[in-house]
Amino acid sequence: MTIRSPIIVTVGHVDHGKTTLLDKIRGTAVAEGEPGLITQYISASYVPTPVINKHCGHLLEKMRISLKIPGLLFIDTPGHEAFTTLRKRGGAIADLAILVVDANEGFKPQTYESLNYLKQFRTPFVVAMTKIDRLPGWNPQPGECFMESIKKQGERATEEIEKRLYNIVGQLGMSGFSADRHDRVEDYTKQVAVVPVSGVTGEGVPDLIMTLAGIAQKYLSKNLEIAHGEGKGTVLEVKEYKGLGTTIDVVLYDGEISRGDSLVIGGLGEKKIIVTRVKALLQPQPLKELRLEKDFKSVEQVSAAAGIKIAAQDFGGVTAGAPLRAVSDEKKIPGIEKEIEAEMDEVEIETGDEGVFLKSDTLGGLEALVKTLREKGIPVMKAHVGALTKSDILSVKSTSRDPIIMTFGIKVPDDVVQLAKDNRIALFHSNIIYSLLEEYDKWVKDRRKREEQALLDETIRPGELRVLKGYVFRQSKPAVFGVEVLKGVIRPGYRMTLAKPAAAGKFHEDKVVGEIKEIQSEGMNRQEAKAGDRVALSMEDIVIGKDVAENDVLRTHFTTETNMQRIAKVRHLLRDDEKGMLAEAGM
Ligand code: GDP
Repeated sequence: MTIRSPIIVTVGHVDHGKTTLLDKIRGTAVAEGEPGLITQYISASYVPTPVINKHCGHLLEKMRISLKIPGLLFIDTPGHEAFTTLRKRGGAIADLAILVVDANEGFKPQTYESLNYLKQFRTPFVVAMTKIDRLPGWNPQPGECFMESIKKQGERATEEIEKRLYNIVGQLGMSGFSADRHDRVEDYTKQVAVVPVSGVTGEGVPDLIMTLAGIAQKYLSKNLEIAHGEGKGTVLEVKEYKGLGTTIDVVLYDGEISRGDSLVIGGLGEKKIIVTRVKALLQPQPLKELRLEKDFKSVEQVSAAAGIKIAAQDFGGVTAGAPLRAVSDEKKIPGIEKEIEAEMDEVEIETGDEGVFLKSDTLGGLEALVKTLREKGIPVMKAHVGALTKSDILSVKSTSRDPIIMTFGIKVPDDVVQLAKDNRIALFHSNIIYSLLEEYDKWVKDRRKREEQALLDETIRPGELRVLKGYVFRQSKPAVFGVEVLKGVIRPGYRMTLAKPAAAGKFHEDKVVGEIKEIQSEGMNRQEAKAGDRVALSMEDIVIGKDVAENDVLRTHFTTETNMQRIAKVRHLLRDDEKGMLAEAGM
């Protein structure tokens, strides 16, 4: 069994130091390397095991590990875009991640966003607590491992570092992760290691590399076994290159690719499958030879895990995030085509007529979004890779009663946004899943409020009033008289029952005596009156003195079955005295 290098991505909030840290890791490797050993692969930097062993070997000893993995492959693009672009069947191709958190700032929105991805794709991670050189009283020890550097710090800096550390440990705790400083972690499968580092002085970088290597070897080696015979990778970038035409940068996560192999690539646009042949496999010249004219040297074969540039006859239709397979035996192509289609169908879904329509620029982005929505119980109608077009808008409008579109990582043109608006389609677009969900939640809340308000307007509210003595202005057709609202709410159109006649006698409580035509006060028509209001009512069908008498108490006829169904839905919006009336009525 061959064990490959783990693939590592760096995620975290903007400006927290991802790029600086990656540069330092690369620099460490380059500075330490013997000629030929260090290869800066395309889109990825490789730190071989001998270089790792040179640094702070005692940490590995403590973990009782002798490294068998060939090295560590760091993806050079920081941020979760690289994470979502680099997808394989069932998840992200990153075996491990570094979550970068600025010691001084702690968790920020994109830190939570990154954590969300890590959770979804179940990617193990280490936290790099960066910029420790900026802590008050810090005494820099360039290049030292943290465990050495901390010994040379005064009381102030030691206290500061503990304070920042526990702030981050607390924030991880609230997100459901138990964590501690890397040297205090007993079991890396149960606790997240937080490594204090500086991307500027390099302090702690050896500890970080060591911790990553240790975790990879100890807990992930099963996932790192290479299956030979077929190369599996993901397209990270499609680039025009002078003299080579269109080339693709690929991260190979399994097997190997050789010159002359057939390539089968999943198309994310019109073409669903692209088949071509490897013309050249290219790696940058070793760093020492960068002065030479040619930027790349051609190689015969690469094995996982590696970043490699590929030149071929035809890369038309290939986009970032596309799955790729390489085989030497052409007979295998049809089978692989099926496999790739299945892999893409897993994410590109068409379920039904209701729910959200999703679009993203990459399969990984789409998958993250589909997963998040499903976790939240939000139904997904369709999920596709690609740009959002006018015809998408029209098709969503024609299939869905309640159209909602979400896009992720796509720039939506203004005319498409306008078309969505014109068609009353809720359109949310962002590069951050977090804010997509926030906007969606807010929209759902607003919509619920509007719907509830509309229902409340249709509902006959519980209300009670007394016919005032000495205020009958007109006996009938219509009867006009003064009332005091005792409880609840009355409105024009409400039918009224006799609740308590002033005079003793037989009466039927549920019998409707008539309907409120108008409510007036101070000569103005009113749409409603509430408990405490004194207003004049006109009612068409009643005769004062016969159907209703002075001092009688009338009640709104709210107890019909249909109305009670409405009330059940808006009960929480009713006034306390209305709820009291419901309780009196045994509801
Ligand atoms: P990114 O957006 O996460 O890739 O962050 P960068 O690596 O671009 O860093 C943002 C800023 O913080 C830059 O000005 C860096 O020089 C600075 N920076 C990053 N890491 C460190 C560090 O460890 N110490 C200090 N003092 N500054 C840092």
